[in-house]
Amino acid sequence: MRVHVDQEKCCGSGQCVLAAPDVFDQRADDGIVLLLDPRPPAGIHAEVRDAAAFCPAGAITVEET
Ligand code: SF4
Repeated sequence: MRVHVDQEKCCGSGQCVLAAPDVFDQRADDGIVLLLDPRPPAGIHAEVRDAAAFCPAGAITVEET
C-alpha cells in the first residue's frame, strides 16, 4: 500500500488522524494533514482505508500495491 495526501484539498477536519493516528497527523498551526508513513504496515491497512473513506475533502488516495 502507498498513501498520498493532497494538502491543497485538505480542510483540516482531522478524521484521518482519528482513524489512523500512526499514518496521519495535522500541522499545529492550521490543522492541515501531515503524512507520517506513506508505506504503512499491513496491520493498519484497514485503518488507512477508513481514513480515506472518512475524509470529507477527498484528500487521501490509497494505492494498493
Ligand atoms: S480527513 Fe481529510 S480533510 Fe480532514 S485532516 Fe485528514 S486529509 Fe484533511
